[in-house]
Amino acid sequence: MDESETTKPTTTTTAASNPNSRADEPPNAPKPRVALGPGPGPAMSSVSSPLAARAGHELPFVQPSSYLRPSSRSHTIPPVATPMSPIDEEQMQGLQGMRDFLRVRTSYDVLPLSFRLIILDNDLLIKKSLNILIQNGIVSAPLWDSHQSKFAGILTATDYINLIQYYCQFPEHIDNLDKFPLSSLREIEKAIGVLPIETVSVHPSRPLYEACSRMLKTRARRIPLVDIDNETGRETVVSVITQYRILKFIAVNTEQYTSLLKKTVREIGLGTYTDLRTGSMTQSVLDIINMMVTSNISAVPIVDKNNVVLNVFEAIDVIPIIKTGVVEELQINVGEALSKRGEDFGGIFTCQEDDRLDSIFITLRQSRVHRLVVIDDNWHLKGVISLSDILKYVLFYGDDGDYFPSS
Ligand code: ATP
Repeated sequence: MDESETTKPTTTTTAASNPNSRADEPPNAPKPRVALGPGPGPAMSSVSSPLAARAGHELPFVQPSSYLRPSSRSHTIPPVATPMSPIDEEQMQGLQGMRDFLRVRTSYDVLPLSFRLIILDNDLLIKKSLNILIQNGIVSAPLWDSHQSKFAGILTATDYINLIQYYCQFPEHIDNLDKFPLSSLREIEKAIGVLPIETVSVHPSRPLYEACSRMLKTRARRIPLVDIDNETGRETVVSVITQYRILKFIAVNTEQYTSLLKKTVREIGLGTYTDLRTGSMTQSVLDIINMMVTSNISAVPIVDKNNVVLNVFEAIDVIPIIKTGVVEELQINVGEALSKRGEDFGGIFTCQEDDRLDSIFITLRQSRVHRLVVIDDNWHLKGVISLSDILKYVLFYGDDGDYFPSS
């Protein structure tokens, strides 16, 4: 394992463009509306709530934008029409500004001024890697092939989920699980029939637009920045950037453009609204994991029998369950599993189809959002907006150009 405190040697990033910098946040930005959601979760005292608690509902739900919500309830999802309406024109102007920004900024610019990078050797046992992630409070790490001195992919919660799925499909191999090194993860993917994620990378000084395109093309949710060491001529991993970090960077630095995105989630058809995969509180964690693997998704909304959203089970919720190494733990139900979430759990973010994209960007700027659950006035599930949905829209909507540059 290589753990190092890294400081960017030179940077074009000013304090104002640091996504972690509070200085970038608009002084009068509206605060997201916070409501209390149901289901097990951390103590509510950690969340301030201007709204009254709903009986039996303990999780923080965050509704980004009742403000700025237009009154119209149009159900149309128009293509880029000609001639464009003023609101369409403004929207395209905002998107174009954001795309230009992504083309002139590099992946290097997204990095904080100082950061820690933990790289795991591919020969390390999977079991040990889990402890390292937990002890360091991280949810992913780049892998290094020390035989070939090469970047070998990124370890994420999805890999542990695949391992569990493998255990379910091949229970006769359970005794070997402790002996699997990280390098066997690709074999595990093949054995359970999931599509391998391409091990793509980008050079840190390439345009950020390229990193985004590659992530969306390959379904990778994070991309390593790989440089070549001048002295040895070998690859060196500089850092890893995630969709979350990129969207935060956009939200913090392009407010002049995000404020032009006045169209609603419904109007632009943002997110997924059909064939939604959901679970219940009493379902086993194994069931939900199976759903995630077969549908290739990283979160499953948990609903009651009336389709009211109670919570969301996320891929990283698996980590506290498997940390004991006792496989029987996986038989527990979703309700129990969610009660194991740490104190730092940020809550579930919701929005409605009438919410505008500009207000979603305000929430992205202010909070730690990994997805939004789309609900109606009565908390019924309508859809899911993932970070990849937002990034895809920002990069490609109405653009007939070359989406995925090859270099
Ligand atoms: P991550 O959340 O891991 O960063 P991501 O942003 O791609 O990755 P996913 O949850 O993997 O998010 O979503 C992939 C696609 O599947 C998105 O288009 C999203 O709208 C859709 N999706 C997400 N959750 C569900 C679900 N429970 N049912 C159906 N579709 C979903």
